[in-house]
Amino acid sequence: MTARIIDGKAIAKKVRDEVAERVRGLVSAHGRAPGLDVVLVGEDAASVVYTRNKEKAAIEVGVRGRLHRLPAETTEAELLSVIRKLNEDPTVDGILVQLPLPKHIREQSVLDAIDPDKDVDGFHPHNAGLLLSGRPHLVPCTPVGCMRLLREAGVELSGARAVVVGRSNIVGKPMAQLLLAANATVTIAHSKTRDLPGLCREADVLIAAIGRAKMIGADFVKPGAAVIDVGINRGEDGKLCGDVDYEPAKEKASAITPVPGGVGPMTIACLLENTLRAFEKREQKA
Ligand code: NDP
Repeated sequence: MTARIIDGKAIAKKVRDEVAERVRGLVSAHGRAPGLDVVLVGEDAASVVYTRNKEKAAIEVGVRGRLHRLPAETTEAELLSVIRKLNEDPTVDGILVQLPLPKHIREQSVLDAIDPDKDVDGFHPHNAGLLLSGRPHLVPCTPVGCMRLLREAGVELSGARAVVVGRSNIVGKPMAQLLLAANATVTIAHSKTRDLPGLCREADVLIAAIGRAKMIGADFVKPGAAVIDVGINRGEDGKLCGDVDYEPAKEKASAITPVPGGVGPMTIACLLENTLRAFEKREQKA
């Protein structure tokens, strides 16, 4: 069997088009566009590209995107004061602080300072708690994107056995919660898991969020499984690759995401959706 390739680029475009349509409706109903403010501290090359892409994607769908670039020497207190101003600014609906932050700034204290109603990354403990208690509001963008890919690919989740490899707060844990909410039977695996290949082979839905190039070989994949590859790595050949050894795995899976062109494009599209969700909730409260 050769798997169906889940085209993240095309599905992300569909999501962005839906967002653009909704933005038009919101502007005419409320007289202003949703605002997304992205904060970047320092000059990390990948982060510069990511934040520019986020600002550009926002503007393309009619969201007021704004990038705040702060020097690498910015202190934690200075960054917290920028966040306070954005929290108080009524034209700002979504605040995203690009990670990683320079070593001298405590990531958690910065993320905790963002108004949970503007936390479009969904990393604030308040939003993590809402997800855990089955009342999701702003959910981390990458797992939301993975769920949309599974839905678009027609993968049945109710009653399915799902294995999520990786337990970060950004991907693995929220991914597992979303699958559980969709009635999958979920196992979370990590670096201490025994017999990872055997566990993965039981999965109807396998999510790889590890950060190790091509670690998930074809022997980890149950025939006919749906495989979502979140990993972004540089392979030995210097090319971008996922956590899944794509070529052999796609001969066993029924559906699979490529890297690049799978989960990656969905993350920004879902960030824009979150910005709209934040806007709508804030307008309801106003
Ligand atoms: P983290 O490093 O925070 O977490 C990695 C997880 O993988 C940990 O839970 C770790 O286990 C687990 N792990 C590491 N090695 C092994 C192993 N040998 N066997 C089993 N589990 C292992 O990474 P993130 O969750 O932030 O990201 C994961 C990947 O996804 C990265 O490649 C990242 O670049 C990519 N990513 C892609 C995004 C996109 O838009 N496509 C967005 C976000 C991330 P333990 O907890 O025990 O250490």
